[in-house]
Amino acid sequence: MHTYGTQTVNSRGHLEIGGCDVLDLAKAYGTPVYVIDESAVRDRCRSYLRAFRSKWPHVDVAYASKAFLVGEMVRLAAEEGLSLDVVSAGELRLALWAGASPSKITFHGNYKTGEDIELAVCSRVRSLVIDCLDEIDLIDRQAREHGRVQDVDIRLNLGIDIHTDPKYTTGDEASKFGLPVRRGDAASAVARVLTRDHLRLRGLHFHLGAQVLDTKYHRQALNEVGEFVRTVTARTPWKPQSITVGGGMGVNYDGVSSPPPPSEWARDLLSVFGEQVAPYCAPDVVFGVEPGRSVIAEAGSTLYTVGPTKRSGDRRLVAVDGGLSDNPRPLMYQSVHNVVLASNPELRDTELHEATIFGRHCETDRLIDGVRLPDLPPGEVLAVQCTGAYTHSMFNQHNRFDKPPVVFVRDGRSRLVVRRERFSDTILTEIRSAAADSSDRPGEKQCAF
Ligand SMILES: *Cc1c(COP(=O)(O)O)cnc(C)c1O
Repeated sequence: MHTYGTQTVNSRGHLEIGGCDVLDLAKAYGTPVYVIDESAVRDRCRSYLRAFRSKWPHVDVAYASKAFLVGEMVRLAAEEGLSLDVVSAGELRLALWAGASPSKITFHGNYKTGEDIELAVCSRVRSLVIDCLDEIDLIDRQAREHGRVQDVDIRLNLGIDIHTDPKYTTGDEASKFGLPVRRGDAASAVARVLTRDHLRLRGLHFHLGAQVLDTKYHRQALNEVGEFVRTVTARTPWKPQSITVGGGMGVNYDGVSSPPPPSEWARDLLSVFGEQVAPYCAPDVVFGVEPGRSVIAEAGSTLYTVGPTKRSGDRRLVAVDGGLSDNPRPLMYQSVHNVVLASNPELRDTELHEATIFGRHCETDRLIDGVRLPDLPPGEVLAVQCTGAYTHSMFNQHNRFDKPPVVFVRDGRSRLVVRRERFSDTILTEIRSAAADSSDRPGEKQCAF
């Protein structure tokens, strides 16, 4: 078993996370349930801040909220000194509702609607990241209407391919994100923003993609940003006050890969930044980084209860009580996760068979392939590891399963931070016709909804 964060095998021989016995958690909160190892998240936030601050005096670490966004995570990130990235009015509202300071929120997005821009400007977010030329006038107009000057950054498309799954790539020339540097659009955006009375150009931003396991692409990107800054600052008196390198720092999904730790990212990126970029920027230029997945992925586990098992040749087909709705990543990205039998995490290999774990959706929702597990009677609890990122936030209502609860665990204590969804939560938006309202609903009379 590969252990993440505080995971260990306790004296009862069970998997334990945050000092809590996983079987107890499954009993108390039901399954499926997302379990977040709070100390692991906090450690990760601290190591990012420490690593980058040890190499540069002005650093901003923004948690990319789309990876996992619940109010308690917003509060945790703020407590740890991280700022926040959001991409929609919905994410911004959640962050503000949870008490985030707008002065620590950056607003992204390749298509910001009028509502997005108005809410962002009137909430006084720290910056909107301009992703296309058309946005410049829209933001300027909103800022004028609200009688203020809005800080903005410009997102560069540097045309860098990170050579991974195309769904993970956001910085190559074919990407929908950012203003292409090579076609001259990024330089045009700088010139245009500088002529607008209600905008103040704060800095430049790029984001290359996700699950990056080598710092070389970001180093290459910083070299190109340096060249862009040199060209632009030779023509205008403007100097960037911040350079943000986005997120994409990879995580150890399969338990055997070794993504660079924050210290390596900091060392490799800041040496290029210090030599190639900072000399052409404002003297107190802020180095920004926006990790999402790498803050939360490894700290999350999803607990499931085993149901029916079937055989296909020597292989066991094991069904669990979740799947595509609570974790669409295996189907979207062919992502790999490890799984642990909570009642007995360290079985000897002779007791194990090859198994495939499926969800219970009316789809072939293969969750994990090629795992080795013993014969599993229904009722056993499985913990799928490294599911903190892009699972809860990518939940979908296929087959109308209820969204699982979120439980934070730390120092032997667990606390529910999001309760399980109920049918009554999900039906609120449906409008029942008058005819349906007056007709009998026999089903509802027979059993409680
Ligand atoms: C998604 C995203 C991130 C975070 O990416 P991770 O792979 O989760 O680290 C950071 N910045 C921007 C602009 C993003 O779109």
